[in-house]
Amino acid sequence: MAEYNIVVLPGDGIGAEVTESAVNVLKAAAKQHGFSINLESHDIGGTSYDSHGTPATDETLNACKSADAVFLGAVGGPKWDHLTGAHRPESGLLGLRKAMGVYANLRPVTIYPGLEKYSPLKENRLEGVDVLVVRELTGGLYFGQPKGESKDENGKRRAVDTMAYDEDEIRRIAHRGFDMARKRRGKIASVDKANVLSSSRLWRDVVNEVAEEYSDVELEHILVDNCAMQLINRPADFDVILTENMFGDILSDEAAMLSGSIGLLPSASLGDGNGLYEPVHGSAPDIAGKNIANPLAAIQSIAMMLRYTLNEAEAADAIEKAIEEVICQGYRCADLADKDDTVLGTTEMTSKVIEVMSKAKTVAS
Ligand code: NAD
Repeated sequence: MAEYNIVVLPGDGIGAEVTESAVNVLKAAAKQHGFSINLESHDIGGTSYDSHGTPATDETLNACKSADAVFLGAVGGPKWDHLTGAHRPESGLLGLRKAMGVYANLRPVTIYPGLEKYSPLKENRLEGVDVLVVRELTGGLYFGQPKGESKDENGKRRAVDTMAYDEDEIRRIAHRGFDMARKRRGKIASVDKANVLSSSRLWRDVVNEVAEEYSDVELEHILVDNCAMQLINRPADFDVILTENMFGDILSDEAAMLSGSIGLLPSASLGDGNGLYEPVHGSAPDIAGKNIANPLAAIQSIAMMLRYTLNEAEAADAIEKAIEEVICQGYRCADLADKDDTVLGTTEMTSKVIEVMSKAKTVAS
């Protein structure tokens, strides 16, 4: 029987709640599909800062590096907003991504049948929406040096961030994007700001070089401001969106809203080794501790872990089908409900997904 070592990082706010859901679904999938999992839990983010004085200890980073896969809930919250620099919860997450070398962040956006009405867009624009944002995750503005705040001799404050890429960083993420496009509808939109930024001009040059190896993939270059507009105007035209770190951060949240709620959006972060899986949403301090967070993004992230890192495609399919079925049956969390729907809390929605998975498995066997 295959056996996998999974590190779990619940983090802060609703991170802990949706992680519990994700782990319960993973345990159910293991039981139903004949593999075993060893789980090891560590602190990350504000919770880690409170216990250890740092948002990610070396012990946590080392455990993540040697695991088969890592699941993370979310980090951050008002309690830690006064912290700066390396003490901030978010810097624990950035450090983790860097330490694991997960440079490719995959964020799929689809519209579940029955949820069209929750999208802020008109239904006729949503038909056929199936977008995969491939975001560079370990370079660009969030990591470039110099970075930080300083004062001049008169005490005037200034701050600097640096958007820097070398051609190897661009080439490896471009290959990921083109490989993904090849397995999907064969289209890629590379997003940059080449009319203004040098790093974007290099980005465009390298993407063009990589494109020569993928004559079967249709490449479009699009400026980031135009892409932000076109995602609302013609979302169904996009297949793979390939972009650098900050542009991808912003565009993927925009794309998330096409689906109606950020509580539905999963992500996978991949490098050349293991993978990091997390819902796209943050720690949602406004709803933390109320058992109302939508766990489906976290559960869907487990499906991505099973598909991309653990090669348990059957279990991944079963989870995805169960989520569709639960939505189709009219069950919703509070972020997506109206008067005709049955509203479930975080734990009840999780149990419903597990129940549907186990019924489907019983019927199949
Ligand atoms: P957020 O994603 O936490 O919340 C934005 C809005 O979406 C809130 O109204 C929230 O209630 C709602 N929401 C988010 N997830 C939901 C879910 N699963 N179900 C239902 N509703 C959900 O973003 P924010 O408010 O900008 O940030 C809050 C904290 O999270 C900040 O400290 C931020 O730095 C951090 N953050 C962390 C990550 C991460 O850990 N990957 C990502 C984004 C933000």
